Amino acid sequence: MSELRYCPITNRWAIIAPERRLRPLEFLVPGPSRSPASPELDPFAPGNEDLTTPEIFSLPALDPAKGSRWQVRVFANRFPALRVEGEVVREGVGLNDCVSGVGAHEVIVECPEPSREMADLSVDELVQVLVAWRARIVDLRRDTRLRYVLIFKNRGTEAGASIDHAHSQLIATPIIPSLVAQELKSARDHFRRKERCLFCDLIQQEVELGARVAISTDSHVALAPYASALPFETWILPRRHAHDFARADDGDLRGTAIVLLDLLRRLRGLLQDPPYNLVLHTAPSPHPRPGHPDDWSTIEHDYHWHLELVPRISRRAGFEWGSGYTINPTAPEEAARFLREADPDGAGPSYS
Ligand SMILES: [Zn+2]
Ligand SMILES: [Zn+2]
Repeated sequence: MSELRYCPITNRWAIIAPERRLRPLEFLVPGPSRSPASPELDPFAPGNEDLTTPEIFSLPALDPAKGSRWQVRVFANRFPALRVEGEVVREGVGLNDCVSGVGAHEVIVECPEPSREMADLSVDELVQVLVAWRARIVDLRRDTRLRYVLIFKNRGTEAGASIDHAHSQLIATPIIPSLVAQELKSARDHFRRKERCLFCDLIQQEVELGARVAISTDSHVALAPYASALPFETWILPRRHAHDFARADDGDLRGTAIVLLDLLRRLRGLLQDPPYNLVLHTAPSPHPRPGHPDDWSTIEHDYHWHLELVPRISRRAGFEWGSGYTINPTAPEEAARFLREADPDGAGPSYS
């Protein structure tokens, strides 16, 4: 069984997952994508449902004439980092804290066709993906052992994907991930001082300045953060204050799909189909924890859900690992300008 282990020196958690053990050769340079070439061998394709673990959730096909029963389909990862069975045991091991690796690790297949990527979907199809994300978060929150549901997407081998068929993943954990906990704390501290949402303040400032805004719609803004860690890092935020993606209505999801699709297509043209990671940051599971130092009583006012997208076009090296700084050769103002000027259909001149 896997474990979450805490290091008191680095203040970091790691998931030690022996089930996902690789053979030494697999640690070498990432090879070509291991996706099967033919739809018959694609485990995520319609007709191959028995190649995956049992279905947890699905949405019916938007166009059943295309030969698939489902549009979006969710099942447990065959090689999970965390497993859903068992009690959460929290114990100290000498200096170190250890929490049993209870959690959920699910795969969300985003469309029936093996050869289409998220950027190829229509707005209606992408809305279905977001509807599935929302439904899985709502469902997993009923499990009081789990404190956070992180939804993420790895696109391309360099970004960690092992199958090309468009999919996102979800990992639900019995602790709040460190990066999210840090964001929650910054937002709460800002709210306590100013009684305003840090993210709403950021949106207002960035929209006024304009230089780091990549895409702007009535409902959402996509911007390059001031201290972008990596080239073309982009955050998508709803303009109207909202702490929890799980409470977004269908109109909010449509607005999100429109701006996400626009961003993905601009990036595809600009950076020539880059590998990327996409994550959803939303409020933690609202299970009350009496006496716990983390206080979520103001979270509806102080946190603001958002998507973060990072193209994986640069590598971490020794300095980054050793210092925690990243070296970003592309100023966010320049990235935002390139994105504003990029072809929304994903063609046109590319950045190099
Ligand atoms: Zn806000
Ligand atoms: Zn975030």
